[in-house]
Amino acid sequence: MRDPGDKNWPDHEVDAFFDQIAAGGQDYRRLVERLPVIVYASELGEHGRWRYVSPQVEDILGFTAEEFKADPGLWARLLHPDDRQRALEIESEDRLGNRNTSPVEYRLRTRDGKTVWMLDEAVLEADEGGVPVWHGVLYDISERKNTEAELQRALSQQAVVAKLGEKAMQNGAPDSLMQAAISLIGQVEGVHSACIWEVGRDGRRLNLRAGLEEEALGAGRRVSAARDSHAGAALDTGEATIVSEWEGEQRFTMPPVLRTFGAASSMAVMIDGKDQPYGVLDVHATEPHRFSPKDAPFLQASANVLADAFVRHEADQALRHRVLHDSLTGLPNRLSFVDSLNGSLQRAAVSGSPVGILFLDLDHFKLINDSLGHHAGDALLGAVAPRLRAHLRPGDIVARFGGDEFGILIDRLADEEEAIAIADRVAAAFTQPFSMEGVEHFVSSSIGVAVARVSSERPANAEMLIRDADAAMYRAKESGRARCVLFDAEMRAGAMHRLETERELRGALDRDELALHYQPVVNLRTGEVTGIEALVRWQHPQRGLLDPAEFVSIAEDSGLIEPIGRWVQEQACRQALAWHEQRPDSRPLDVAVNLSARQVAHRDLPATVAEIIAKTGIDPAHLRLEITESVLVKESATAIASLEALNEIGVRLVLDDFGTGYSSLAYLNRFPFHALKIDRSFVDALGIEQERTAIVEAIIGMARALSLEVIAEGVENEVQLSELRRLGCDYGQGHLFHAAMPEARISRLLRDDALDYSGISPER
Ligand code: C2E
Ligand code: MG
Ligand code: MG
Repeated sequence: MRDPGDKNWPDHEVDAFFDQIAAGGQDYRRLVERLPVIVYASELGEHGRWRYVSPQVEDILGFTAEEFKADPGLWARLLHPDDRQRALEIESEDRLGNRNTSPVEYRLRTRDGKTVWMLDEAVLEADEGGVPVWHGVLYDISERKNTEAELQRALSQQAVVAKLGEKAMQNGAPDSLMQAAISLIGQVEGVHSACIWEVGRDGRRLNLRAGLEEEALGAGRRVSAARDSHAGAALDTGEATIVSEWEGEQRFTMPPVLRTFGAASSMAVMIDGKDQPYGVLDVHATEPHRFSPKDAPFLQASANVLADAFVRHEADQALRHRVLHDSLTGLPNRLSFVDSLNGSLQRAAVSGSPVGILFLDLDHFKLINDSLGHHAGDALLGAVAPRLRAHLRPGDIVARFGGDEFGILIDRLADEEEAIAIADRVAAAFTQPFSMEGVEHFVSSSIGVAVARVSSERPANAEMLIRDADAAMYRAKESGRARCVLFDAEMRAGAMHRLETERELRGALDRDELALHYQPVVNLRTGEVTGIEALVRWQHPQRGLLDPAEFVSIAEDSGLIEPIGRWVQEQACRQALAWHEQRPDSRPLDVAVNLSARQVAHRDLPATVAEIIAKTGIDPAHLRLEITESVLVKESATAIASLEALNEIGVRLVLDDFGTGYSSLAYLNRFPFHALKIDRSFVDALGIEQERTAIVEAIIGMARALSLEVIAEGVENEVQLSELRRLGCDYGQGHLFHAAMPEARISRLLRDDALDYSGISPER
């Protein structure tokens, strides 16, 4: 039908149209009463009389036209309480003759209690008697309204998911994210409350993890949902599970907490996890039929946001743990220790109580690692960690710094003495042996202690305190290990110096700063030089020529001894060969090089030596390797195997510094030694101290019995020489003959035939 107000319709046509309708009579009425709307005429006011209402009113509202006409207050009574006031205000406004009344929307209750949305479009006209009468049409717009409401609900649900996603991106703790989810979902229209159930450790029960806190208060113990609840079903099926009406629900049991607020309907979805589901997100309404499958995507999306966030959080935590912990022992690592220490120092600045740290280093760990293998070393570290823990107070922190180094943080100390007492207690952790590969090993530790007294004027720095404890630990090592030492300022200088030396030593080989000095070994019967000992020196650019005492232990600790040792061996072999060539008619000089314990413990030693022999072409019978006695005390399997292998190669092994360790002569025959060197301290005492002279005599006697050559170190005077000769010592070296000297001097002496010692009368 064309709009009569359309400008394109000429006036005469409009007139014709109205005439047609007026002439229609019955037809017109039929038209009005067939349209899917209610046409009405009612008098103004809440209790205005309904003069006419078309019969469709019965289809739409369930009341007949007659009932409306008979009951003037009916319409007003049917108004939805929320719309009532607004609708009545508009209705009672006297807008007589006003054509611009805008349509009104309101809800009416039908006879059977349903709600329908009405659009009321009407004009107020006075009848012939002047009574104002509304002429209007009521459209049923429930469908549109419902669609709108659903759209609105979908939008608000989307907004919730978006907000939740945003919150999840902030990487908060799972608990705060769960709270956010509960509160956001709780704001969705029609939702009374939401809650999250977490799968319990047993994998069966669902424990209330978030939401319904107030409702759960009265429960006294942990609130849970049974596996045969709707939440359990969501978990088992992975599908959204809807309970439309708890009353009369047959399939699922109702979690008791839902009863406390009269839940009438619920919907649950699974929150997935990395390996297994995390739990269930559950929403509740106090009206029945509140949730439909249309709501499932929203709730599932929310649950997925949570699931993602939980998985990510777990990964973050794992990463964080990895970053802050040592994987071998599970202890915090240095990074984490420094963190804790900084915290303690900050608190100490306020509280004023001192903070102490212990720097603990296992003694001879490298030996264990090199000789028993890394597995044994790792096993030892793994066993040390819980022992340390067990010997400390619960609040103290034990961390592994790396290698065999551990740090212990003691918060709130009384004083230095307490720190020492704690260190002693920690040391006691080592009184019992450690079992490694079925064998019991005793391991000791050296502990450095540093205590900081912090104040706001004197702040302390974690790294500095650790360095102090480290320096004290070094002092403990130097003083013979298996002890604890409290840091003092003098040590700081020592530690700095050591660090600096190590740094410089790293480049020393490449810069060609290392050199060998040689000390001749004299046959004490003839005065003839039969060998030379190679002794390493470091030509330091600033500090001048350095003796091994200044850098060999640093080289050992830093591992630099390996490349340095190889260089020494090769250099000494080449030099010996050069001297052989210089006097081809004489017996070749034996060349001796020193090996430190760490080198001997290294599995590769025999291979390295064999390689150097092959490379230089020296006859292995002329190469001597000097090993200090301490290597034997350990009696490690690798060391013994190495010595056997070296013996096979044909090099001669010399036991150096004999008498300074604890090895008994009796046990020397277990090792393939060719010679032993009596330590200088015994030679010093010769002819002066009766007792030590007797020991030297015994050593020489025993060596003879074992067919070992004997060499005396540090022969400085004639008295010592004659005593040694009297006791039957074969060889000697010392300042009486020659000090260690550079290659050039030896070469010159050899050329001049002035190397041999002339102070011995050949007749003896
Ligand atoms: P060592 O093997 O016992 O060497 C003997 C030390 O005594 C040498 O000191 C030598 O110069 C010194 N000496 C020799 N005769 C006398 C004497 O009559 N009186 C006195 N007072 N001293 C004498 P040096 O060269 O300082 O070496 C010290 C230690 O350093 C050596 O003790 C050795 O254990 C170690 N060492 C030297 N070179 C090397 C090397 O290339 N590798 C390794 N691993 N250690 C080395
Ligand atoms: Mg030596
Ligand atoms: Mg020696």
